[in-house]
Amino acid sequence: MTPEQEQKFDRFTKVQFLRGVGPRRAELFEQLGIKTAGELLEYYPRGYEFLPPPALIKELTVDQQATIAGQVVQMRYNRRSRPPRMELALRDSTGSCRLVWFHGGYLQDKFLPGDMIAAWGKVTRYKEIIQLVNPRWMQVRDIEDIKERQERGEAIYPACNDMSSGEIARIIRHSLDLMLEGVEEPFSDAFRGERELPLRAEALRWIHAPAHGEQADKARRRLAYDELFLMELGIGLRRERLRRMQPAYPLEINEKLDKRIRRLFPFLLTADQESVIGEICRDMARSEPMNRLLQGDVGSGKTVAALYATLLAVGHRRQAAIMAPTEILAEQHFISMERYLRHSRVKRVLLQGGITGKKRAALMKRIAGGEIDIVVGTQALLQHDVVFNQLALVVVDEQHKFGVRQRERIRGKDVAPHYLVMTATPIPRTLAMTVFGDLEVSVIEHLPPGRREVTTKWYPEDELRRAYEFIRSKVAQGEQTYFVYPRVEESEEQRAEKEGPLKAAIAEREYLQKEIFPEFTVGLLHGQMEPAQKTRIMEGFRRRKFDILVATVVIEVGIDVPNATIMVIESAGQFGLAQLHQLRGRIGRGQKKSYCLLFGGAKTEAARNRLEIMEKTNDGFVISEEDLRIRGPGEFFGTAQHGLGELKIADLVRDTDLLRRARRDALEVARSDPELKAPQHQVLREAMQEKFGADLVLGDVG
Ligand code: ADP
Ligand code: MG
Repeated sequence: MTPEQEQKFDRFTKVQFLRGVGPRRAELFEQLGIKTAGELLEYYPRGYEFLPPPALIKELTVDQQATIAGQVVQMRYNRRSRPPRMELALRDSTGSCRLVWFHGGYLQDKFLPGDMIAAWGKVTRYKEIIQLVNPRWMQVRDIEDIKERQERGEAIYPACNDMSSGEIARIIRHSLDLMLEGVEEPFSDAFRGERELPLRAEALRWIHAPAHGEQADKARRRLAYDELFLMELGIGLRRERLRRMQPAYPLEINEKLDKRIRRLFPFLLTADQESVIGEICRDMARSEPMNRLLQGDVGSGKTVAALYATLLAVGHRRQAAIMAPTEILAEQHFISMERYLRHSRVKRVLLQGGITGKKRAALMKRIAGGEIDIVVGTQALLQHDVVFNQLALVVVDEQHKFGVRQRERIRGKDVAPHYLVMTATPIPRTLAMTVFGDLEVSVIEHLPPGRREVTTKWYPEDELRRAYEFIRSKVAQGEQTYFVYPRVEESEEQRAEKEGPLKAAIAEREYLQKEIFPEFTVGLLHGQMEPAQKTRIMEGFRRRKFDILVATVVIEVGIDVPNATIMVIESAGQFGLAQLHQLRGRIGRGQKKSYCLLFGGAKTEAARNRLEIMEKTNDGFVISEEDLRIRGPGEFFGTAQHGLGELKIADLVRDTDLLRRARRDALEVARSDPELKAPQHQVLREAMQEKFGADLVLGDVG
């Protein structure tokens, strides 16, 4: 008796109890992330090998991939030839052909003359004799056998060095029936019928051993559905829990307040902004906390919409917090907010890491006392010593750095704040649903009036001279220019490594001022400057104290100088696509035509791709789709994208229809049975606990 027969078998059974798996292979499986039978069942093939088309021997042509079948007429093992080889003559009704296996000694006792076999591989010719070299083969009884094998794909598994796909396939094949017994079906027949999904156990059989390609497709669809469903259910349960957790302050808009807020904007809101603000107001009027994602390209006017929400909270004498991913971004938010709030009585502070000791304590006291209306900062706002008095709204600016961290939440004492996330990466809606799955989505599609397309060109380094002359002529006409560099200073390494050092902003500013543009004023802005100094320089540039501003990526957001019409980005290949797009968003803001000039070689294919896409389009939506395509969803979203595990078989880009369906179904379950208590949800409940841990299903959030 083998152990597998003695013990009760289920999906938690260790793989080493499976036939053909000893301690050594168990260890190899563990390296592949597989410890249990259940995990092995979900170790999906990455493809299938199907037999090439059948052919008659007479009709074989060189280089063709073919399957032939016939009788073994003669065989010989030649151990003296180098390398030693096994030769076999195979005959069908049309002729005969040679099969050769180098080092084929192990085949000596596999065939006898008269056996029927099928063999497949690439056809070659050696001294006028047609042959298959190292073909794959199988014993067959008759043509039906071949037909059957013809259709059935052989699963190919991601292998590791010490265990081949073939070995994995054999082990799975041996124990497949046994393993499938442990599979439980979470969905009713009616439910599956409507969605044309096969049984889960059936799908698992088909994915490993499909009788034909169509079965493999059906299996993949079902298993992808399950994966997406569980992911969405996780999102749905989290959302339901938040919804029922704590009430929020209902903040209704009224005409007077609306007027007071609008007065602060020196322009009319666009139709998109109006509709987004409408959605936000509707959410915030409820005592259920708002959970909204605001998507819009760089410069589409998100900040303005978010500021409206902020002022709505402040108008109700509550507090709002604005969080950005970095100190620089937080600061820039603060500065750009100042443009609207300069003459208002709203009390706002920028909470920086550099503020410490007594100063910080004093500030904390004012925040806790409710004296401060708006606090801008980084995620550090979540830190323990920051206590709000009546925090009613949290705005999180994810910019393009979204998704990398798990979103965290500030919670009030008894009341949950409304929650608004901004992202400048206009990802496809269905993807947004998964990444920010527990959020409603608002989109700003159109840019505010006066924003213009930017002409973008990528040049080799040696054309910089020409660019200088172009810039000279534009600046002489009163326009302004940015020069952007990846670094503040050259690092020692870069200086040492002579080949293509990154140009450093500080040195470059010297050079541009002295050697190239002595007749203009060249300013410098970089991240290592004191905040006050940065503000001064940005303001100075706006007031045309400088014609040219040399900067690092600190200007990515927040700077708004409509008179700046040219941006030169050096070592452009070093920047990511989203970042290049963000940078470019700083120009094209005025009435005059704007130009983005990219310089520097692209060392990698991906870098070249990025720069070419920048030349091709200004559309942030297209850019992020391309970015997604170049980098793949994993890297695009960051690994811990939604905190809800990785996808083994579903593909967020390809399976959007399935995702939509799974989402609808999962949210329905989450709504109707948020604790998965119903008897018909017990299989799901177990699957959820197994996948995401007990917390998600039972425990507290946040
Ligand atoms: P985002 O936060 O989406 O990058 P902002 O809200 O910062 O965009 O707005 C980008 C620029 O467009 C700013 O200079 C802002 O003053 C301007 N802007 C925003 N809304 C409008 C509008 N309705 N009409 C004209 N200009 C606008
Ligand atoms: Mg902005």
